[in-house]
Amino acid sequence: MMNNKKKPFIGISSNVYSVENGNFAGQERIYINRDYISSIQQAEGIPFLLPIVLDHEVIYRQVESMDGLIISGGYDVHPFYYKEEPCNLLQAICPERDEYEMALLTIAYALKKPILGICRGLQLINVFFGGTLYQDLSQHKPTSQLQHSQVAKADVASHSIDIQPNTKLYKIFGKNKMTINSFHHQAIKDLASDLIVNAMAKDGIIEGIETVGPHFVLGVQWHPEMMTATHSEMLKLFQAFVLECSSQS
Ligand code: MN
Repeated sequence: MMNNKKKPFIGISSNVYSVENGNFAGQERIYINRDYISSIQQAEGIPFLLPIVLDHEVIYRQVESMDGLIISGGYDVHPFYYKEEPCNLLQAICPERDEYEMALLTIAYALKKPILGICRGLQLINVFFGGTLYQDLSQHKPTSQLQHSQVAKADVASHSIDIQPNTKLYKIFGKNKMTINSFHHQAIKDLASDLIVNAMAKDGIIEGIETVGPHFVLGVQWHPEMMTATHSEMLKLFQAFVLECSSQS
């Protein structure tokens, strides 16, 4: 026995897609990439999938019964949530997922459940707190633009980040510089006032955010779950999150 404490329940938000061909054409399926599940398991948490539902009572019960929430990667956030019209370079959106995850965040934040946002999850947290996004990174005009939609495969660390001292993220990794993977065409434009930057790329793109204070709300723009199998250091993020969730249960 590693310890007597029950492992915490970690809810992971999901994606939806419609089957295109065959007998089940038109059926909708709920899914996430499996490496979220293995990363949480390796970090001693109990992963479970959160299907998209829009009944408030059901969502409330889902959040009540979890010890922590992961908002996973996926579609672009509908720009209406940050008072913009869609630009030409906006990619696929999923309004019902936006609605569901905004409800998850509202309830999880109110109930002080630890929250970890990954990629879209970071973006959604910023929008939830009143921030805005670049609908496409071409709207960001630095002197030199980095490759944020990497061509290299999923677990390859392709660009570096500077981690800000005195942040939760710094405490987790214990260093001020590391390398990460990158699969995003959007990013934070205006940071919400309740959030601080904990990591930034060399071109000024925000790669990590968190709230100040004891409630653990943290987002990363990269995909740590895709790296845990080959870069064991990435597991530290999930371990820190699961530990936070343990203190809830
Ligand atoms: Mn990046």
